[in-house]
Amino acid sequence: MYLRLAKRLLLETDKRLLWKLVHLAGWRGLWSVIKHKRRLKRGEFFPPFLYLSIINTCNLRCQGCWVDVAGKQTKIELDAMNRTLNEAKAMGNAFFGILGGEPFLHKELLDIFAAHPDAYFQVFTNGHFITDEVAKRLRQLGNVTPLISVEGSEFVSDQRRGRAGVLSKTMEGLQNCLNNKVMTGVCTSVCKTNIDDLLNDRWVDRLIDMGVMYCWFHVYRVVGPESSPELALDTEGLRRVREFVVSTRVRKPIIVIDAYHDGEGRALCPAVTGFTHHIGPSGSIEPCPIIQLATESIHDERPLREVFQKSDFLRDFRETVAHNTRGCVVLERPDLLLALAKKHGAKDTTQRQTAIEEIARITPRRSQYVPGMEIPERSWAYRLAKWFAFHDYGVYSKNFRPSDWVDPDSCGCDPASSLNRSSETCLSSSAPTVYSLSHPSHTPTHE
Ligand code: SF4
Repeated sequence: MYLRLAKRLLLETDKRLLWKLVHLAGWRGLWSVIKHKRRLKRGEFFPPFLYLSIINTCNLRCQGCWVDVAGKQTKIELDAMNRTLNEAKAMGNAFFGILGGEPFLHKELLDIFAAHPDAYFQVFTNGHFITDEVAKRLRQLGNVTPLISVEGSEFVSDQRRGRAGVLSKTMEGLQNCLNNKVMTGVCTSVCKTNIDDLLNDRWVDRLIDMGVMYCWFHVYRVVGPESSPELALDTEGLRRVREFVVSTRVRKPIIVIDAYHDGEGRALCPAVTGFTHHIGPSGSIEPCPIIQLATESIHDERPLREVFQKSDFLRDFRETVAHNTRGCVVLERPDLLLALAKKHGAKDTTQRQTAIEEIARITPRRSQYVPGMEIPERSWAYRLAKWFAFHDYGVYSKNFRPSDWVDPDSCGCDPASSLNRSSETCLSSSAPTVYSLSHPSHTPTHE
């Protein structure tokens, strides 16, 4: 399998682009992790990977979207973007995730990539604006990999993405990338309506036949103003996704990305481990894209290095969540987010100004953390990569006590049948445990 993957990488891609991937995302990406580890040893913090949602506008209206896609256009302007990227690069960062809205609606997107040939960009896109001309430009630049989202069959795609003909337009963009030998990935937010269509060998084989080099199976997050909780996977669905990811890695010549488990199959949250944080279209600095709460911005006077180092909100977020769960706090413990926002006076960074209400409406449900359901990596290559770069950086071993974990499935609420019940109702029997920053031993305080 490894030989078949190596053969594909060597024969099906542009060698110059492959070299850029290896050099910028691989070697420099590893270097950014080494620098991160050294900072942690010195008691300093700066996430080695940043995600930037550079624009809110989008041509689609997906179910469960958390972005103000129909709101007034807000974007990170070229100057601010260059400044932010330069400050992050000065800290050793080299790999950046670019999100939207739809990033290709940002008129200066390609100029941003061109201005940073020493960095590598992964663009989360619906592919609709990747014409042959744009794909040619991406190949010329060489430091960009589009990650194109496919959300199901023609019918399911249209339903998930709120418009007719979405899949064919997406596949057209994907084909333009592949025709131009651009390093391209496909991602899916796996949910109840697409799990049978896309979580199978037939789909992965099709991607391989087309020339797609990597895929990423996210799990649907129940967030946003219209969160569609009926789409969320149950525990068995979560297990299926993890099992498929792990088994595909040892069977198919395609790279499979995931962001929720270490090499031993133990759940983690990349925002809690400090591996990533997120910057929104208004410049707000948030724990991750779906948590639209912030106390700082890239437009603040202070350098980014100082902002990350001194952010009490982000530090408290990492520590408090790590005390309570290895899973996704948004799905499992929305009450903690509300308490953290209140404690730090975090601003709602949405235009609609309903983020707090939306969080309060979330019915707690299980996420990637299901004790006893750990599925370790079977591929030595992924094990090695995760051992080096993708683990908890000591956050959970230091903070997490499994006995403190509140299982959302046994807190008296049934996510499948209580779609309108709030986190407050569901967790009423267990007051949220919030750890005070001012207390070095993190003695819990109940708020
Ligand atoms: S809070 Fe949830 S969605 Fe955000 S990074 Fe963590 S696991 Fe992912």
